[in-house]
Amino acid sequence: MGDILERLIAFNTISERSNKDLSAYVRDYLTAYDIPFEISEDPTGEKVAILATVGPMINDGVVLSGHTDVVPVTGQSWTSDPFLLRRDGDRFVGRGAVDMKGFCAAALAALPRLRERPLKRPLHLLLSYDEETSGIGSLSFIESFGRDLPRPSHAIIGEPTEMQVAIAHKGLVSYQTKVSGIAAHASRPADGVNAIDIANEAMTFLRCAATELQADRLKDARFDPSFTTVHVGWINGGTAANVVPSDCTFEWEVRSVPGVDDGLVNEKLDAWAAATLTALQPTVDISTTTTCMLPALSTDAKHAAVSTTLRLAKRDQPCTVPYATEAGHFQRAGIAAVVCGPGSVEQAHRPDEYIRLSELQRCGDFITQLGDSLCV
Ligand SMILES: [Zn+2]
Repeated sequence: MGDILERLIAFNTISERSNKDLSAYVRDYLTAYDIPFEISEDPTGEKVAILATVGPMINDGVVLSGHTDVVPVTGQSWTSDPFLLRRDGDRFVGRGAVDMKGFCAAALAALPRLRERPLKRPLHLLLSYDEETSGIGSLSFIESFGRDLPRPSHAIIGEPTEMQVAIAHKGLVSYQTKVSGIAAHASRPADGVNAIDIANEAMTFLRCAATELQADRLKDARFDPSFTTVHVGWINGGTAANVVPSDCTFEWEVRSVPGVDDGLVNEKLDAWAAATLTALQPTVDISTTTTCMLPALSTDAKHAAVSTTLRLAKRDQPCTVPYATEAGHFQRAGIAAVVCGPGSVEQAHRPDEYIRLSELQRCGDFITQLGDSLCV
């Protein structure tokens, strides 16, 4: 398992980069063990998702799901090369060790053993891309389940939960809003249309939407905060104080509790933009694009997927996680999903990110027992 993790971490798969080399390694590995797989490429061919399967290609199997991309290391102070796995006692240190190449390595290491078992239902391993950015890298396979591929009974997303079983998280939708105004000399502001002013009004609109959602009765006490949040996190615009700015772009996000329409704030902003634009010149524009989409997760605690996973993970109670995962995509596609993976999210996205060997072994045991449960 350590060897596989070392190889996975050595591929610099920061989301903005291609994951083709990593996928070639995984494909060679699967081929060497005669494990069938399919691939799905993005339109550029630079990003590859893989679905490997052991057992019969029939319905009611289980999907293990992990992403192959990692967050950047820029600005972080690492004590060693982030892409060279370092062993420090029982810790494996490297970018992606916990989020989530550790899980991917544990699953890949288990597949050859499971290949030899008399599985009556399949175990699929889905390795996606772009989870840390757009969140869409798992979608093509998820949409194929029950259509071109067998329909699994449930999915287990191996994001770090210290092998607890999470059944709910908030959704995350991120947007980029671009305002195009008209440049002019600052001495004659009326000759132009100030893009920063319009962006400022749009952000005030979002601020009001956030306040309304905070007061909304649709709360979920399992989360802190218990309400849907809206937040602007980045802005860029203008060139100098003495120029009426023609452009301003800002990025914002909605983190929605399950049951809240995660696209509603954007719909309202669009309506506000349309009304605002009618009073302005035709060249002025306000446009918003979705940059990330991970739907909320809320799986019924009584669902068989939850009791089975709790038993295999040797846990009594399900929990929730504060971050968004690809589990929401599965649920939206009608496939029950839980989040259960090795290591702590406290380590994710940090310098000297690590996972403990004991956690990886626990995850390996969990997958082996999951395989056993598919033999009956
Ligand atoms: Zn992750």
